[in-house]
Amino acid sequence: MNTDFDIAVLGGGLAGLSLLYHLIEAGKLADKKVLLVDPAGRKNKYDRTWSFWEAEPGPFESLVHHRWDTVTVHDNERDLICELAPYQYKLIRSSDFYAHVNKVIDAAGVVTRLTDRAENITSAEEFVHFTSGGQSYRVTHAYSSLPLHLRPRQIKQPYLDQHFKGWIIKTEEPVFDPAVAALMDFRTPQHDETRFLYVLPTSSTEALVEVAIFSNNHLTSEAYDEILSQYIAAHWTEGAYTVKHVEQGNIPMTTYPFPTSEGNLTYIGLRGGAARPSTGYTFYGMQRQLGALAKSFPSRAPKPWRRRDLYYDATILGLLQHNRLRGDQIFLDLFSANPTPRLLAFLNGESDFTEELAIMSTTNIREFGKSFVLEALR
Ligand SMILES: Cc1cc2nc3c(=O)[nH]c(=O)nc-3n(C[C@H](O)[C@H](O)[C@H](O)COP(=O)(O)OP(=O)(O)OC[C@H]3O[C@@H](n4cnc5c(N)ncnc54)[C@H](O)[C@@H]3O)c2cc1C
Repeated sequence: MNTDFDIAVLGGGLAGLSLLYHLIEAGKLADKKVLLVDPAGRKNKYDRTWSFWEAEPGPFESLVHHRWDTVTVHDNERDLICELAPYQYKLIRSSDFYAHVNKVIDAAGVVTRLTDRAENITSAEEFVHFTSGGQSYRVTHAYSSLPLHLRPRQIKQPYLDQHFKGWIIKTEEPVFDPAVAALMDFRTPQHDETRFLYVLPTSSTEALVEVAIFSNNHLTSEAYDEILSQYIAAHWTEGAYTVKHVEQGNIPMTTYPFPTSEGNLTYIGLRGGAARPSTGYTFYGMQRQLGALAKSFPSRAPKPWRRRDLYYDATILGLLQHNRLRGDQIFLDLFSANPTPRLLAFLNGESDFTEELAIMSTTNIREFGKSFVLEALR
């Protein structure tokens, strides 16, 4: 049994690397030995684009590749222009994030990397045990972001996948305004689901155009391509463009009560419920949670979302999953009837109760009320 390490970080994606970053910045690892386990090894690829909004400079401000003060929201009848101040919508490329955080981790000189799977993870009394690369390990604290594969039919809480595919395109003609991002554009056939596109332009000829679908029916890769090309031709350019980069993925949207800890084993990232159930946004809430966890280390981690955020989200997800209201109706109503900063504070879990009441009063109260009661009774 290997007992050389105090802390094990199992999974070195966004959550594992962010946790190490925050612990190092908080000065909590100076006298510790840490093992970072991930079969994918040291991450360095541009495999995802993280967008999020925040009102203050964040811990990764220097990595922000582009930022917007204005966003738009569209359906077939409404075109909303939303000013975000004091918020900004920000974009970080994973390759920049991995390079920066890996450098900070290496400089700390306390982290050993193991390129293998962590398995047989158990927490007993004051230790966590696991195996990896044919060895058994015992550590005092472990943080796991290993994926949890939930089956929607096996849980009682509402569950929708957010599955998506995006292209970074380079157009020949200038067609984008790099000062304005399209946050949600529902001008695509909905097929009884919630389907929207977002467009994050970084210059007049370059943008990430991504289609996101809230449903448990995934599409073929070609079907997402078809939606992307039709949308671009209908709303941005009929001219030529090249696809410079492709990303694809899935984020579970659910109010399932993800376990956050077992003894000294703490679950972080998507595994610990870091994705906001009603939107899938994860980056900002995860940094807030892991920053707080690092400051209070070795005390228990705070939950990623407040209890009442999860009630609101169960209400919205319940409406969407059971097709009682369409996503375009819900989001366009919210954006048209509320000051954008109030709504952004709400979706970041930073609003106060008065703001939440004000927001709820702008919804379809009958349907929201019914869904709230149904979900609360589950
Ligand atoms: C393409 C894409 C775009 C996204 N865009 C946004 C966005 O714009 N805004 C936003 O807020 N969120 C976004 N998300 C959601 C979320 O921020 C990311 O999914 C984020 O990477 C989640 O972090 P994580 O650490 O939980 O998971 P991951 O980053 O996936 O890390 C999990 C790690 O666990 C490792 N692992 C798996 N099995 C084992 C094992 N047995 N032992 C050890 N390690 C193991 C994996 O190799 C991986 O490195 C996006 C997700 C994707 C996929």
